[in-house]
Amino acid sequence: MTARLYYDDSYLRKFETSIIETRAEGVVLEATAFYPVGGGQPSDTGILISNGEEYVVSDVAKSGDSIIHHLADPATLAPGEHVTGIIDWDRRYAHMRYHTAVHIIDAVVNRNSNLEGSITGSQIYHDRSRVDFNLESFTRDMAQGFADAANEVVEADVPVTVRYLSQEDAMKYPKLARTAPGRDLLKSLDRIRIVDIQGVDFQSDGGTHVARTGEVGRIVVDRIESKGRNNKRLVFHLEDR
Ligand SMILES: [Zn+2]
Repeated sequence: MTARLYYDDSYLRKFETSIIETRAEGVVLEATAFYPVGGGQPSDTGILISNGEEYVVSDVAKSGDSIIHHLADPATLAPGEHVTGIIDWDRRYAHMRYHTAVHIIDAVVNRNSNLEGSITGSQIYHDRSRVDFNLESFTRDMAQGFADAANEVVEADVPVTVRYLSQEDAMKYPKLARTAPGRDLLKSLDRIRIVDIQGVDFQSDGGTHVARTGEVGRIVVDRIESKGRNNKRLVFHLEDR
């Protein structure tokens, strides 16, 4: 089992640890700040340094309780070896800004009781993101309205914090998970990680977020797309404020 350092410190970009397992595709570390792909957020990339040699981490993925750091030539690294990990910070920080932006959009959409539960998925990239809605009609004006409301939350620069709830306490918040798979996942966990955008959004999440909404920057609508009768998509990017 790999300790997930990014859960409690999303700003950690350099760390020391050791290898616990070498596999054909990469290595498992005792602890890591590398985010593994999941929850709509891409994996981190970066390097591992061992005995003065640099190894490029091209992809990071979960495998049961372990996290595999994909390397071109993992065979030269042995279990027990000490390594320094450095994540590609520009890429990760972009993912943090976009992930928080998606939660803010989710919150402002759910604030409107007619639209509650209408977000069905999202995907983050380092330079744009998309949010999918279970809506029959979706106009450019609606998309701009969501972006305007979300940008007010950015301007308010409220804190974004991580906390943990027991499963019993988590069940007191019916909206903690917004999607059906998310709700099923909650039932299998005894300690649930919450990302709390103060006064705006409170949901179970495994992703990495910025510390304050002001770091997100300005949310700019690129386009809307129809992906089917009840499937509409908003694509946006972020600009510095
Ligand atoms: Zn999330």
